[in-house]
Amino acid sequence: MTVKVPFNRPCTLGPDAAYVREAIASGHMCGDGPFSRRAQAFLETTFHAPRALLTTSCTAALEMSALLCDLGPGDEVILPSYTFVSTANAIALRGARPVFVDIRPDTLNLDEALIEAAITPRTRAIWPVHYAGVACEMDTILTIARRRGLVVVEDAAQGVFASYKGRALGTLGDLGCYSFHETKNISCGEGGALLVNDDRFARRAEILREKGTNRSQFLRGQVDKYTWVDVGSSYVPADILAAFLVGQLEAGERITARRGELCAAYARMLAPLAERGLVRLPGVPEGCVSNHHMFYLITADASQRAALMDQLRGAGYMATFHYVPLHTSPVGQSYGWRAGSLPVTEDLSARLLRLPLFCDMAMADVEAVARAVCAFYGVECRDAA
Ligand SMILES: *Cc1c(COP(=O)(O)O)cnc(C)c1O
Repeated sequence: MTVKVPFNRPCTLGPDAAYVREAIASGHMCGDGPFSRRAQAFLETTFHAPRALLTTSCTAALEMSALLCDLGPGDEVILPSYTFVSTANAIALRGARPVFVDIRPDTLNLDEALIEAAITPRTRAIWPVHYAGVACEMDTILTIARRRGLVVVEDAAQGVFASYKGRALGTLGDLGCYSFHETKNISCGEGGALLVNDDRFARRAEILREKGTNRSQFLRGQVDKYTWVDVGSSYVPADILAAFLVGQLEAGERITARRGELCAAYARMLAPLAERGLVRLPGVPEGCVSNHHMFYLITADASQRAALMDQLRGAGYMATFHYVPLHTSPVGQSYGWRAGSLPVTEDLSARLLRLPLFCDMAMADVEAVARAVCAFYGVECRDAA
């Protein structure tokens, strides 16, 4: 079998490589140089984030968030089970307990109607995840959090350039975490950012990121020497990576628009399958603007997904499933979670299939993949345009 269309391929529509050469020539290779400042300023200006700090990954930003939430043994954090392992790991690393809540069937996001029932006197925070770049119901989540005195940390790894009621994902909670991993819309290979939206976390966030020192205050001339003032780690990415990232961010609108065209073509071609009730296609709730991070379909059952995935891969089209729910994983089970407790998560995670999508994907390849899906169901595709 030869791969005709990979699931993902790193691609660019911006001056990324030229900026990397510029960064190398400047002689500033380590973090917090000119390109890091440009990337942070871009995030703060474009997304109206009060403070953006580049990190080595979204995982690192989530770990910083767990420290900023002051999580420790006995504390509980509410999050979906249908997420990447880093969301839960950051909580577990602090000795706190992940409390998994089921997802909404339409967006596969944390079901806001189930949050109240999961809150106990030990609950410290709510960590919603914006799946596929479509926002959680943030007004409801923020209202609950405010009433109960809980910190809200958005895992917006997939949400860069997506919005909720006109506000960028990652800027709605107290803290927001972005990913610039190769698999995300905007990428520098490995990278991330922590958006600090509540001022009470700003000073400590800087210190955690600088190995527990007050080096940032020293560089601003606010203290005359810097020293060890808190715990922390090395969360600062190199300026050459930031240079690549600036190129990606500057092309961000075009990358997002191109992905939107590709998703629209998939949606149009596959509409006859949805109309016949053979599959379900992604929808975007009122008030949410997607960044087209993902195009998925929900099949009738797990065996149909396996058969469709095998047939597509056999033809060279690298469709792929997504998360194994964390509550059924070995570590999830060690916290006492069992299969059967989150029915929507268990059902949909077994039926979801993601189709190839990347910013320089040829429209002809979208058409070929869509036709292969239609052929599996023995239904004629609609034309792409
Ligand atoms: C990709 C992803 C992460 C991890 O991002 P890294 O930058 O690779 O650490 C975390 N959460 C979600 C929901 C993701 O999709």
